[in-house]
Amino acid sequence: MTLPKINRILLKLSGEVLMGQGQFGIDPDTCDRVAREVKAATETGLQVCMVVGGGNIFRGLAGAAKGFDRASADYMGMLATVMNALAMQNALEKLGIDTRVQSAIPMASVCEPYIRRKAERHMEKGRVVIFAAGTGLPFFTTDTTAALRAAEMKCDALFKGTSVDGVYDADPKKVPTAKRYDSLTFSRVLADDLKVMDASAVALCRDNDIPIVVFNIRDDGNLAAVLRGEGTATIVRN
Ligand code: UDP
Repeated sequence: MTLPKINRILLKLSGEVLMGQGQFGIDPDTCDRVAREVKAATETGLQVCMVVGGGNIFRGLAGAAKGFDRASADYMGMLATVMNALAMQNALEKLGIDTRVQSAIPMASVCEPYIRRKAERHMEKGRVVIFAAGTGLPFFTTDTTAALRAAEMKCDALFKGTSVDGVYDADPKKVPTAKRYDSLTFSRVLADDLKVMDASAVALCRDNDIPIVVFNIRDDGNLAAVLRGEGTATIVRN
């Protein structure tokens, strides 16, 4: 896998990554481990911003299936992402990394509101910016948020940290013969409905020419290795 020249990335983590081995909620040790991955990436001079999901706490669709109004459930999901963002901020700051959380739903006593130009300034100063509360709009996902913020922040790539080392033609946890792709085009991902990110996120990245790198965030040192062009991952590009 050959990466383009990268100065700035957006790292997308689903909420499930922060559960660690648990079934629900936030595992502090896992946050610390992810923070070490981010630290290693920033030490190479790379600018990093992040979007964290909320699925480890609350998902709007699941809430709606249980009878909550969908829009209200989505707002609950967005609030869950703020909790995850604060947990990651805490873990990063323990390692001495300056971090700012910016929320798409303003909550002045908790974090900054999302202001694109301010976020860019933070990144230029070497701070990690964590975008919380998704887009601030119901009926969207944090995958779409990640693609949107990556475009707004002029990121060179969107790194999607998962529990597998790339995109496969079948679920590698269920099908032992599943084949991993080294690289894929956006149109192939959309045409074959490959599970990379949701379709609106893939289309946004395609339209803005932002490659998506799918890699395993659970392997220690893997983010830095993939950034060096080593390590295993799948790159999706035009
Ligand atoms: N959400 C939303 N609008 C957004 C982003 C997220 O309504 O722009 C809600 C939605 O209910 C979603 C929840 O927040 O289920 C958590 O986000 P997501 O499911 O994307 O988290 P992940 O799967 O990455 O953990």
